[in-house]
Amino acid sequence: MTNIKENLTIIRSNIKQTALRVGRNPDDIRLVAVSKRMPADYVKQAMEAGQKIFGENYLQDAQKKIEEMGPGPEWHFIGHIQSNKAKSVASLFDMVHTVDRLKLAKALNSHARSMGKTLSVLVQVNVGQETQKAGIQPDEAEELLKTIQQFDCLHVKGLMTMPPYKENVEEVRPYFRALRELAEELTRKGYFYRKEKVELSMGMSHDFEVAIEEGATLIRVGTAIFGPRPE
Ligand SMILES: *Cc1c(COP(=O)(O)O)cnc(C)c1O
Repeated sequence: MTNIKENLTIIRSNIKQTALRVGRNPDDIRLVAVSKRMPADYVKQAMEAGQKIFGENYLQDAQKKIEEMGPGPEWHFIGHIQSNKAKSVASLFDMVHTVDRLKLAKALNSHARSMGKTLSVLVQVNVGQETQKAGIQPDEAEELLKTIQQFDCLHVKGLMTMPPYKENVEEVRPYFRALRELAEELTRKGYFYRKEKVELSMGMSHDFEVAIEEGATLIRVGTAIFGPRPE
């Protein structure tokens, strides 16, 4: 049986040690517990162990859990979004990590407006420039940001990436670094909601320590907390 509480304790301690080793404040790194495909009971156990932010990428699966948990946790959407699902995503989630095109940003903004809410979003960048991966190309990010920063009901807080998988985590470092450098450039140009607190969503179970070393502020960790996902 997966000991969720113990896993969280270990990960929090890793986050802290890694942050201190590179001279960062551990409080600047938030853990997103990726509960996709995991039962509601696992989310409950994590909440009881003090976990506040959960990440989901299947809408239907997430909706049930969000309703069951009630107010309290913060829900982040981390999956691909078809534009016709933008309404549900805007209503259920506090932050969306995966905005990668104008059409989607427009849809999220107009649904958020009709609900009278503002939605925090990140722009997903395909730093590995892999053809099969979601995310905007790095050289197209500025144009997208230029437009969506003006949307009244979106707060564009930063960038997110899913780098190529590498057995050796050191080989992922250049991708994390590239995202940070891109974010720095775009921050200088004034594209983010709060320039003194730009979010970088990067790092998963097997590479979050390297991501923290490279500046991650949101790490998305699933299996290291909840164990392997059911098929
Ligand atoms: C599933 C998923 C994660 C978590 O992956 P683990 O390897 O289980 O930590 C993080 N980010 C995204 C976008 C995911 O889809």
